[in-house]
Amino acid sequence: MSRRPLIAGNWKMNNTISEAVVLAQEISNEMEPDWLDHVDVAVCPPFTDLKPVWTVFDFDHLKVAVGAQNVYWEPSGAYTGEVSIPMLREIGCRYCIVGHSERRELFGETNEDVNRKVAALVAERVNPIRPIVCVGESLAVRDEGTYLEYVAAQVKAAFAGLDANDAADAVVAYEPIWAIGTGRTAAPEQAQEVCAAIRAQLAELFGEECAQGMRVLYGGSMNEGNASLLLAQPDIDGGLIGGASLKAKSFAAIVKEAL
Ligand code: PEP
Repeated sequence: MSRRPLIAGNWKMNNTISEAVVLAQEISNEMEPDWLDHVDVAVCPPFTDLKPVWTVFDFDHLKVAVGAQNVYWEPSGAYTGEVSIPMLREIGCRYCIVGHSERRELFGETNEDVNRKVAALVAERVNPIRPIVCVGESLAVRDEGTYLEYVAAQVKAAFAGLDANDAADAVVAYEPIWAIGTGRTAAPEQAQEVCAAIRAQLAELFGEECAQGMRVLYGGSMNEGNASLLLAQPDIDGGLIGGASLKAKSFAAIVKEAL
């Protein structure tokens, strides 16, 4: 089955509104509109930038989606500092990163939190916000040699209690922690090995047909120099891009590699 690639930029905690509008406009200028007939593209800026960035792409009639970097699972209430799914939907968000390793490591996000967020996101079928569920092992786990089991367990936990209908539109991103922001990319064969294991775990949970339709991304120091070999792997359906998504030319060059 051929899956439509997805290239998503994770801007992390970078760019004020004025900076975000400039970057979004630069990305719009670099992108050929017909590329978007073949590849899905999203940028995930901080919450404060979501609407301004959405407006830039909308004004240019460019089908670049916006996504959030986090969400809370309750729809409203006394949860100071949190942002809900209805809030993101009204802005026009189409994706939401869930369980990024920085949230797990720096903010104590657990597998159970990730599962609640994924379940809340996929519960809404009208104008869905697709979760981009991040999984990936630390260097210690890789060196121990248990990384396939570790990542499979993260996938299982993230999708606990969900069925194939719930999971079908979700995206999984394999992001080895040792490759994030370090300039040290996983070799294409290393990334392929884990992405294939993720798909096998998805097949065990949801059946082969569902797993073959779901997108599995690679993330971790992907750039215009290494994207082509990574994206050529059979189980890698796109990229979650951090640092290189903050440079319009680099981000557009990676999108071009996914065509
Ligand atoms: C990320 O944080 O999701 C990421 C992939 O970062 P980088 O590309 O900078 O390694």
